[in-house]
Amino acid sequence: MNISCDLSRHPCFNAAVKGSYGRVHLPVAPHCNIRCNYCNRKYDCVNESRPGVTSALLSPLQASLYMEKVLERETRIAVAGIAGPGDPFANPEKTLQTLRLVREKYPDILLCLSTNGLQIAGYLDEVAEIGVSHVTITVNAVDPQIGQKIYSWVRDGKVIYRGLQGAELLLDRQIAAIKGLKSRSVTVKVNTIVVPSVNDRHVEEVARAMAGLGVDVLNCMPMHPNRDTPFEDIEEPCGEMIEEIRARAGRYLPQMRHCTRCRADAVGLLGEDRSDELRGCLTQCAGHTPGLSGRPYVAVATMEGILVNQHLGEAYRLQIWSKTEKGFHCIGERMAPEPGGGPLRWKELAETLKDCRAVLVAGIGENPVNALAQAGIEPIEISGFIEPALAAVYSGRSLNVFKVRRRGCCSNGPGCPGSGEGC
Ligand code: SF4
Ligand code: SF4
Repeated sequence: MNISCDLSRHPCFNAAVKGSYGRVHLPVAPHCNIRCNYCNRKYDCVNESRPGVTSALLSPLQASLYMEKVLERETRIAVAGIAGPGDPFANPEKTLQTLRLVREKYPDILLCLSTNGLQIAGYLDEVAEIGVSHVTITVNAVDPQIGQKIYSWVRDGKVIYRGLQGAELLLDRQIAAIKGLKSRSVTVKVNTIVVPSVNDRHVEEVARAMAGLGVDVLNCMPMHPNRDTPFEDIEEPCGEMIEEIRARAGRYLPQMRHCTRCRADAVGLLGEDRSDELRGCLTQCAGHTPGLSGRPYVAVATMEGILVNQHLGEAYRLQIWSKTEKGFHCIGERMAPEPGGGPLRWKELAETLKDCRAVLVAGIGENPVNALAQAGIEPIEISGFIEPALAAVYSGRSLNVFKVRRRGCCSNGPGCPGSGEGC
């Protein structure tokens, strides 16, 4: 897709339109891959407006439904963004699937992402192909000696890096990400969280380095001292300090001065936020099991009809299960399309399963995930017994307990104050 650097409708990148165009944040990314010493995503106080906070989490299909409802009620929304509550690329499947669904349905909406930059580099081609035009990367230091005071740890795959090593890795990845985004003509904003006595004297240096990488705008944000974090006792920087910092940084990069430090589920115009008003709609969408009407069945990839134990790609046929008053029954089998045939194979599968609300598989790749999701069929990657999983699907309960557990890593859930090494 040809990315348009259309600044005219993005209220964060163009202050002149903040009264005319709005944004909606789709909270689909709960996990994070680093730990910033000022971050706490645990609390949802409806009176609290700060990044990392959301009243509900959405699946990609739920996000697409929510988007529809939001646009019915607020026609000035020009931007759909993913800003957490964790990091979009600690949740890459959900992030990319959501972006694809929104892009498919709303070709004119600007797509936007906000990330710490650690893991976006592996997805840049896809990000550009979907047509994400605006990306924000939070860069708090360009000197790892300072960075190490801000990050408790940085996780790359299964390895946790702390101290200098963690800060060096993060900075290297952020630089590579910015270069990769700029080479794909994406508009890049850098957020720098100003932490008094930690990086407040360093922001000018950040601005100079970011200008050298071709960054378009810098947003110096005062740190919000969140309780139960290592920085909870550091005072929020005053307006005067921020203005001085912006004046110095402004020698290198244009400054964003109208940031409202939005929640991960913010919606509306920047100065006319409608998150409160749309909270009911958000939680309703979060409880919605998409595609129920006309979809009585669930498809299952299984070898013997007891366990979900086949990857979609290896299943030559899928069992079709139904719920009756007496319990769950396998009503038959359907042949999966032959291997080969590229994306058509998965479109064909979606057609074969068009009366199914979900497909349970032990493993699934990105292409079938997208093809099925676009057809309104929820792909669910789990392992274990079929019937308890079906009970969860039909009742709309969480399937987390069935999810394949990865050893040695807890994926840093929203409330995890831990070491990142797993529980
Ligand atoms: Fe940092 Fe992750 Fe929290 Fe964002 S969600 S502030 S990257 S710890
Ligand atoms: Fe825009 Fe700032 Fe809100 Fe992000 S936090 S959406 S940059 S106003």
